[in-house]
Amino acid sequence: MTPQLVILCGGKGTRLAERLRLPDGTLLPKPLVPLEGTPLLERQMRHAAAFGVRRMTLLVAHRADAVREFCHGLHLPGVTVDLVEDGVPKGTAGATLHALDGLEDEFLVMYGDTLLNVDLDRFVAFHRDSAAGITLFAHPNDHPRDSDLLDVDDQGLVRGMHPYPHPQGTAYRNLVNAALYCMRKNALAPFRDTPAPADFAKDLFPLMIRSGTRIAAYASPEYIKDVGTPERLDAAERDLRSGRFAAQTLRLPQRAVFLDRDGVLNEEVGLLSKVEDMRLLPGASAAVRRLNRAGMLAVVVTNQPVVARGECDETTLRRIHDRMESLLGDEGAYIDRLYYCPHHPHGGFPGERKDLKVPCTCRKPATGMLETARRDLHVDFARSWLVGDRTTDMQCARNAGIRSILVKTGMGGADGACLSTPDLEAEDIGAAVSIILAAEFPGEQAA
Ligand SMILES: [Zn+2]
Repeated sequence: MTPQLVILCGGKGTRLAERLRLPDGTLLPKPLVPLEGTPLLERQMRHAAAFGVRRMTLLVAHRADAVREFCHGLHLPGVTVDLVEDGVPKGTAGATLHALDGLEDEFLVMYGDTLLNVDLDRFVAFHRDSAAGITLFAHPNDHPRDSDLLDVDDQGLVRGMHPYPHPQGTAYRNLVNAALYCMRKNALAPFRDTPAPADFAKDLFPLMIRSGTRIAAYASPEYIKDVGTPERLDAAERDLRSGRFAAQTLRLPQRAVFLDRDGVLNEEVGLLSKVEDMRLLPGASAAVRRLNRAGMLAVVVTNQPVVARGECDETTLRRIHDRMESLLGDEGAYIDRLYYCPHHPHGGFPGERKDLKVPCTCRKPATGMLETARRDLHVDFARSWLVGDRTTDMQCARNAGIRSILVKTGMGGADGACLSTPDLEAEDIGAAVSIILAAEFPGEQAA
């Protein structure tokens, strides 16, 4: 059962006025702004209907007449559309709370200026598994230094927000609230008297977190963009024309580049266990940025036996990865997902963690992390690659049936652990990415 959909249609669209003006001088309401000739609201409603959404509730504060007329003219078989008029703008949370009594037990919330191609089935399934009151759709972006970043714990629950600007010397995970939510009505009910205007991100979520409501973050590389300015609207139209929009959904198989960490992205220092020892290799950010722009997923898969050996706890490992994401973000690059294996098969180290001193299915050359990525991100192995500096990486790629590139940085293949040979070799991650992009996008000038 797909939940009800609530679309926040209250925005005035002042910044989009030039695109909303009709020949007679009147202005369309913002959700009706055309993208490649189709109103944004129609794109959202058709997308939801394709996932089986049967009831859509539009919260309208401005030009309700125009939205109503548009809905009358829209043919969506089997879908009930109702409008709730707010009168005065109440903010995103205020409008939703105002309409709460008429909503179903579970509902999705979309903003009226968002173009998205999100697999709603996956998103809703995650929400139901999480047992959270609210699930936020979240993603990394290419400018985390000047973004409000989510503070998420190891269980994926939101603890709060790291608001922009971030103090000097801080490093956070690159994860941004993308303004698509799945909500349980009973999680919101205790807050129905929150004074309006109230915004979800600024007002209601912090209040709910302080009150102990579980808010989960769902990280996904799918297409979701705010198109609230002419520049963003133009960029979104380019994505519609180029096919980028159509391809960037987890309904469809994705191309991924699996990246080993130490010796590929960052300097090999031998069992890295100190945050300050995380230093990116020259050209690593530029290489990842090129993958991002090409629409290939950048997925880090790393063996971290330091955890089992007791040399680095998982909190420190997390801070090491936060620093890596922050350093990448400073140069406009991001990773789509990171998996690590904390295990190690051989006991006998002082301070080791017995619970992690076990044979596992995730430690490379085993393929467990790749298999998890395949499920989580709908990765197509036949169109994916692995870049590593060790023979264990090459063997892992061979075991999974993925093409491999050995780089000369880090161990440069001299670890001697496996006999497996790479499909290709490259000087470093930048050269490896050039090979991959040339193979995947023949005829295109790699940017
Ligand atoms: Zn493992």
